[in-house]
Amino acid sequence: MVTHDPYEEAKKQLRQAIELLGLGEEVYEILAYPERLLQVRIPVKMDDGSVKVFIGWRSQHNSALGPYKGGVRYHPNTDAHEVIALSMWMTWKNSLAGLPYGGGKGGIRVDPHKLSKNELMRLSKAYFEAISDLVGVDQDIPAPDVYTDPQVMSWFFDAYAKVKRGQYFGVVTGKPLDLGGMQTRIIATGFGTAVAAREAAKKLWGGLEGKTVAVQGYGNAGYYAAKYLAEWGAKVIAVSDSRGGIIVPDGLDPDEVKKVKNETGSVINYAKATKKITNEELLELDVDILVPAAIENVITEANADKIKAKLIAEAANGPTTPDAEVILTQKGIIVVPDILANAGGVIMSHIEWVNNRMGGWITEEEAKARLEQKMANNFLRVWDYWQNKLDTSKYNMRAAAYAIAVDRVVRAMKLRGWI
Ligand code: GLU
Repeated sequence: MVTHDPYEEAKKQLRQAIELLGLGEEVYEILAYPERLLQVRIPVKMDDGSVKVFIGWRSQHNSALGPYKGGVRYHPNTDAHEVIALSMWMTWKNSLAGLPYGGGKGGIRVDPHKLSKNELMRLSKAYFEAISDLVGVDQDIPAPDVYTDPQVMSWFFDAYAKVKRGQYFGVVTGKPLDLGGMQTRIIATGFGTAVAAREAAKKLWGGLEGKTVAVQGYGNAGYYAAKYLAEWGAKVIAVSDSRGGIIVPDGLDPDEVKKVKNETGSVINYAKATKKITNEELLELDVDILVPAAIENVITEANADKIKAKLIAEAANGPTTPDAEVILTQKGIIVVPDILANAGGVIMSHIEWVNNRMGGWITEEEAKARLEQKMANNFLRVWDYWQNKLDTSKYNMRAAAYAIAVDRVVRAMKLRGWI
């Protein structure tokens, strides 16, 4: 099996954007490396009295547009290269969304399901303390990512309050309601992906009505994408999680499936499923819309040829490798790229951060409306650029999204005198 290094993939995508925009090698060199990468070792006293040592990172990719912004993931396979790639993708995502942020990302190499709640708390606080010199309301603002949630953000926030002797609500987003968070942040990534898919469906078919959908991954992003797509008339016929997937040809009820996952640990126990499938099989189903909502590198040159969906909306970061994308583009499959399709999370994070700094300003209804509008506008901006400025037989939507995103970062670097 070919293994894929997300950092190499991210650099390939950057290289393509640099060529498309006709920028010099020095711009590539500046953007190919993170400005700063911190590695920390985190000893944690376990419940049984033993000590386990974990490794964590924070990558600060680029700050031309503002403070670094991006989540922290807890995953057994996370490494420095993955975190760097994810931080680079955040730079493009934040730039494309028009946010006043650069890109950053953090990670700890850990399987959080193997830790007790108290062990997770000690690990989270120790990690944040270890990176506390680098983060700050105007320096670097972490948030949730894979297997981290509002509870973990609360521990981050508290660790920072202890170190800095101040209650800096804006130092981390994705917090729970009682600590300055917003309810809408929970739904934001999946809801945003559903909005992006809806806008794409309008362009392709006039709307979502009756379109079949398969969703890989049933965490926060996958579940809410499924929920809103179903609510807006699409038929979600397959979903999966790390233990496997299910098919319900007549369409499943995303809330019912979520309940089953919460109660039994996996979507595979959903009683109305007619068939169990693997994660690989889910990707190759004959559906209209495919939503990869798990991790990177699931659509590669090994399976791209077998993908039958007409539209792919990337809720995950980096699910499609550049080599796979060449094949998808040749097949005429439209990919709404991650930096566009999953920006809902960080767009909502920005609203939360502004709200924190103003001591409360926006209602949940206003926040959700803003998020929806911004996602739809962003989609249309990229779509129009793609259709009007690029040769669509040669370039795909990701090329358009990258061109807009990289160009904005480069303009900011020029203004600052970096290049
Ligand atoms: N982790 C999310 C992402 O990949 C959200 C980041 C944030 O809210 O800062 O976009």
